[in-house]
Amino acid sequence: MSKNNQSITICYILSLGHSGSTVLDRTLASLPGAVGLGETYALLSGKEQNFENTSSLCSCGNQLLQCEYWSGLKDLNKNCQSPEEFINAYQQIIAHAQQQGYSHIIDSSKKPWLLEYLNSARFENVEIKTIYLVRDVRGWAASRRSLAAREGKSTILVFIRAVHNWFLNNLRLLNFLKKGDYTWSLLSYESFVLDHENSINSLTKYLNIDTSNAAEGADHIVFGNRTKLNDQKHLRYDTRWFNVYHLSVYLFIFPYIGWLNSLLSISKNGKE
Ligand SMILES: [Zn+2]
Repeated sequence: MSKNNQSITICYILSLGHSGSTVLDRTLASLPGAVGLGETYALLSGKEQNFENTSSLCSCGNQLLQCEYWSGLKDLNKNCQSPEEFINAYQQIIAHAQQQGYSHIIDSSKKPWLLEYLNSARFENVEIKTIYLVRDVRGWAASRRSLAAREGKSTILVFIRAVHNWFLNNLRLLNFLKKGDYTWSLLSYESFVLDHENSINSLTKYLNIDTSNAAEGADHIVFGNRTKLNDQKHLRYDTRWFNVYHLSVYLFIFPYIGWLNSLLSISKNGKE
């Protein structure tokens, strides 16, 4: 274990899939002292069976064994099963980030269970700050519908199923956060993209990122949305759904979904 016990913050991004978590991870990782590690749960749970696999590329452009971050963690357990195994492996990730002088780890695993494990570990000198990222139900479901249309499926059924999945899963995440002992902040993906500068200022304050710190941020993302990783102009909002009037009609037909959407579509920063 590292002798270096400077304090470090884990910024954990909790969200549904396809909510912009990889883009948020990379953006935060560009801030001073931060390192973006992507979906660590996928790496640690053995989704990546072969660490030496030459086809595995880190977002820094290197293969894992040549990556300046992950090459220092060759012995990391990448077949974690139990909470203890995940916690022990994460302890190594934390120690390595501390050794490399980072003050913030950005983790876009999204899964509540990993956050629960990490929070229960009570790591010394480690603060865990969660960002609960929510994309507007209309935009989220419209992108599921476009995918279904490309696959030749019934778009109306896919859309109705999608808005309900959004509702049930976000309700679960919200209850999870409210019942647990977490420090969390709600971030609307729409605000993050369309009111970017204000969002970054609020996030910097919430995460206590020292903007005068000369240390540059870096991202070493192995698992995440690959298309977003390769897209240089990643911060682009797909506004096509704004003009699709009937998407909003569903929020009248299913008022409980409209209620949760308006509750979650405004960013709220600070300790909840
Ligand atoms: Zn890398």
